[in-house]
Amino acid sequence: MIPLTLTTEERDLVRTRFLAKVERSEGCWSWKGFTQTPGGRGRMRVKNRVYYAYRIAYILEHGFIPDGMVICHRCDNPSCVRPDHLFAGTQADNTRDMDRKGRRRNKPRYGLDHHKVITSDEQVAWAVEMWSSGRMTQQAIGEALGVKQQTVSGWVHSSGRTAQQRRAQKRPAA
Ligand SMILES: [Zn+2]
Repeated sequence: MIPLTLTTEERDLVRTRFLAKVERSEGCWSWKGFTQTPGGRGRMRVKNRVYYAYRIAYILEHGFIPDGMVICHRCDNPSCVRPDHLFAGTQADNTRDMDRKGRRRNKPRYGLDHHKVITSDEQVAWAVEMWSSGRMTQQAIGEALGVKQQTVSGWVHSSGRTAQQRRAQKRPAA
């Protein structure tokens, strides 16, 4: 996420353009500008980059988005850009929030990104356990979960490395 900083002048200009695309109401403020899907998250171009409209809304209200924070909706309406319906949270807050609202569509992506596999932590833990206990081959695990053997190999490898790192951290400093 590229941080967006605006001078006071820039902010005024952005605010004018922003408000022209917002339908304000007693409840949510709907974004009338560009969205990828109807009723989806609004997008707005600022200084040659495209940002989510609700992020712009938050920046206009608060001046900036705290480092590493994501902007969440209290109202569960992705197209809403009403500042007091938005709050900054961690990615974990956002995931928890979505779980609570039951609208998380994808399971967390895990493991080697370039395989573009979306698997749950439970599946990965299961795969590692099956393999390390010798009950299944990596090939068989891959078939059971619908992923490549190389993917399973990656999970096994990274889980081993994590265990090593944990041990290394426990070791007292010399
Ligand atoms: Zn709202």
